Amino acid sequence: MEEYDLFAEVTLQFERAAERLKLEPWIFEKLSQPERELVVHPTIIMDNGKPKTFVGIRVQHSTARGPAKGGLRYSPDASLSECKALAAWMTWKCAVIDVPFGGGKGVVLCDALKMSERELKKLTWEYILAIKDIIGPHKDILAPDMFTNDRTMAWVVEAYNHGKTHFEFAVATGKSTSFRGSFGRKGATGTGLFFVLEELSKHLDFSLEEKKVAILGFGNVGCSVAKLVHRAGCRIIAITDIYGGIWREEGINPFKLQTYVDRKKQIVGFDDTKPIDNESLISLPCDILIPAAVAGQINANNADSIKAKVILEGANGPTTKEADEILKEKETLVIPDILANAGGVAVSHLEWMQNLNQVVFSEEEVIRRMKKRMKKALCDVLATMKKHNVTMREAAYILGVKRVAESLRLRKFHNYEEIDLKTG
Ligand code: NAD
Repeated sequence: MEEYDLFAEVTLQFERAAERLKLEPWIFEKLSQPERELVVHPTIIMDNGKPKTFVGIRVQHSTARGPAKGGLRYSPDASLSECKALAAWMTWKCAVIDVPFGGGKGVVLCDALKMSERELKKLTWEYILAIKDIIGPHKDILAPDMFTNDRTMAWVVEAYNHGKTHFEFAVATGKSTSFRGSFGRKGATGTGLFFVLEELSKHLDFSLEEKKVAILGFGNVGCSVAKLVHRAGCRIIAITDIYGGIWREEGINPFKLQTYVDRKKQIVGFDDTKPIDNESLISLPCDILIPAAVAGQINANNADSIKAKVILEGANGPTTKEADEILKEKETLVIPDILANAGGVAVSHLEWMQNLNQVVFSEEEVIRRMKKRMKKALCDVLATMKKHNVTMREAAYILGVKRVAESLRLRKFHNYEEIDLKTG
């Protein structure tokens, strides 16, 4: 279970933005809770021959700007609060980068690392069959998240299309390129993180050359951003994963580390490095700290010890609200998750478009379009920051909430027509 209420965290950010924007009460009410929460109980026969029932959740926070869009996470510690928070973050994130999606998220409570491929496939099928009526290319589109991947998405597509006369690939993104996935999707979140950092460094006249970087998490996001900052001349001095961490002041080569991880399945023991834990990594003297693992790792207990000048949020919700206040006081620049890690959904949008239009974009085309979108989103957030004199996180929320509210206002939901929309 999460140590703190993630949905309360995201709600607070929404409420602050709503207050600044003086949102009409009906819009505030409508966006305060998800549109839909579905809990299902898929049962499968485990490899030991015994049946086991799991808990699966799908939350659709808002579809005001388009179909819900969001990952599917396999985790033993997930909760409804976490799923609601992740879905709400997707709503604001899609609005910040201006893709025509709302926010959704799914979790299945299971320990994927301890399950066989057969068990995971069965569980994915049963979960999708249980939620199939509320998902689809024009309703809610899934993607990989923690402990799910392109193989999981292939099972999602197969299960969703089971018994149908035509195959709809666009029900999920983050698929393999040999199964109608998009070129450039695999490392897209890390690539997007890097584009935002690179662009911001130009705005702030902050060279990346020789900057010391520490990274929490070396999965899809952590590994891909590590390679790009390394190429840009940064020195990665420490990395942790779920099993432990490594520290080398002279620098860690992420390309060689990935080859090591492919073999050993963990980073601990990599050549010429000393062990380090998450808390020590967070307080290391460095320039850029990249949380790219789980939520809440930067919190009231360690925020004061952070020496990095820039925090680039790869994970969703890595910084708690208490930590955010401390970092604001310290004038640490936090590049918020709903902007920084939106590269994945930017490319997911391109994958969805390619599937619906039966076309294929080259990797260069995908990266070019994604870079343009991330650059525009950063400029929009910087302009909002200036206009309202707020932090980058507050600005991103103001921008996201404003765009979703505008869409609701224009659509004028039928059951609100009788009230005074300004005051009611
Ligand atoms: P992943 O499963 O590929 O990798 C997660 C990494 O974090 C692994 O290296 C794991 O060992 C490590 N980790 C897990 N628990 C940890 C702990 N307690 N301490 C240190 N390391 C730990 O997942 P991912 O796709 O890289 O996602 C990472 C984060 O980024 C998540 O918060 C996810 O929601 C977010 N995110 C992912 C994407 C995407 O496209 N994959 C997009 C946006 C946001």
